Amino acid sequence: MSYTVAIVGRPNVGKSTFFNRLLEQRKAIVEDTPGVTRDRQYGIAEWAGKQFNVIDTGGFVPDSKDVFEREIRKQVQIAIDEASAIIFVVDVTTGITSLDDAMAEMLRRATKPVFLMVNKVDNSARSLEAAEFYGLGFDEVFYVSSMSGSGTGEILDAITNLIPEDNEEDQNSDIPKICIIGQPNVGKSSLLNALVGVERTIVSDIAGTTRDTIHTRYNLFQKDFILIDTAGLRRKAKVEEDLEFYSVIRAIKALDESDVCMLVIDAEKGITAQDLSIYSLAARKGKGIVVLVNKWDLVEKETNTARDYEKELKRKLAPFNDVPILFISVKEKIRIMKAIEMALEVYENRQRKVPTSQLNEVILKAIESYHPPVVRGHAVRIKYITQLPTAVPSFAFFANFPDDIKTPYRNYLENQLREKFNFSGVPVRIYFRKK
Ligand code: GDP
Ligand code: GDP
Repeated sequence: MSYTVAIVGRPNVGKSTFFNRLLEQRKAIVEDTPGVTRDRQYGIAEWAGKQFNVIDTGGFVPDSKDVFEREIRKQVQIAIDEASAIIFVVDVTTGITSLDDAMAEMLRRATKPVFLMVNKVDNSARSLEAAEFYGLGFDEVFYVSSMSGSGTGEILDAITNLIPEDNEEDQNSDIPKICIIGQPNVGKSSLLNALVGVERTIVSDIAGTTRDTIHTRYNLFQKDFILIDTAGLRRKAKVEEDLEFYSVIRAIKALDESDVCMLVIDAEKGITAQDLSIYSLAARKGKGIVVLVNKWDLVEKETNTARDYEKELKRKLAPFNDVPILFISVKEKIRIMKAIEMALEVYENRQRKVPTSQLNEVILKAIESYHPPVVRGHAVRIKYITQLPTAVPSFAFFANFPDDIKTPYRNYLENQLREKFNFSGVPVRIYFRKK
């Protein structure tokens, strides 16, 4: 289930303030893209038991009025094409501007739900002024003060009401779903074509009914899997230029639909800030991850090149860096099959259910040899551990003082789980509960 809400509006109306409020304490991924865009933020919001992706389309540094308008139009068009719903933010303190009018005109024609949000309605005098925005012609108008938070509940209710309950039982739910994501030009389509070229036992193309991604079913190593492709899909993009926004929004969709993602990076360019954002988003979504360093053929190699490259990459991926990293060349067909094999292995790791007896035997021993630190004079005792029946490997540790177990010890436990049971490529979740 993938639901993505895009926040659009001209600069300074309060998009980013609202975005931060939506994500509350959750850390937003803030990424700096040089050039026209200020920064594009994306994250996962939660309300009324439902989760959805939020993208703040960012602001612009206008160098001329024409460029500026064109850029904003592009963003709005991509939001209309790609998002599930749109929050259109305007500013009560400025009233309706000509740019608001231009954006409203595009958005009124959208077939997606549009929520008009009049921001900076900090007091009742301003809510009287806000009524002018009904003139923009939207049915749903919300008065919000992103600063104080008032009105945000109403708009969130309206959004989450549209999100279907997670009942879409996928008929292919027990087949591994793998997606290929990465920046433009890293070799995603080439990789897909290479896999298609080598492997002749494609079972079927599962017609994308409502999805924007292509699901192709394969059988390799006696295993079925589905490759989710967004790379080749550019048909709907009426705007070629803002590929970066486009690829982010598509990548998020592909992530939501898959179990494991293959993050492809360009060996020469190295991992970018954008890649790291997607990587940490994938980790927070609990997806399995394999990192593929493509175009390895272009890198001049000495004895330790791969080793050093991997070390540096892991440093950048930290704290979650227990992931397989493969050096591939799609062009020279090096380790392409290995990439799929790895992804399937990560899928297995993600499915792993460790029996409680084995879990306790092994991990209690590790705890015995290195106890949690004493806090405020009392010993913290972990009594037993159990794996929870969740899609993402999650472990509950029962302890006398669960709140007194701090991050370093939590990390020790996670490392023990990884070392003893192999969760390579898989984010694991750890909870401490009172016993
Ligand atoms: P963006 O460019 O649309 O992302 O706008 P920002 O979130 O950066 O906000 C622009 C300015 O408006 C900042 O100075 C914010 O503090 C201010 N602002 C945002 N929301 C509100 C609000 O609800 N009330 C008031 N009074 N100011 C706000
Ligand atoms: P996408 O935008 O990520 O789908 O990237 P493409 O598959 O379209 O590839 C972008 C460019 O990189 C094309 O010119 C490819 O031929 C080239 N390319 C892809 N894989 C490799 C590789 O392993 N080595 C080299 N040297 N070039 C590659």
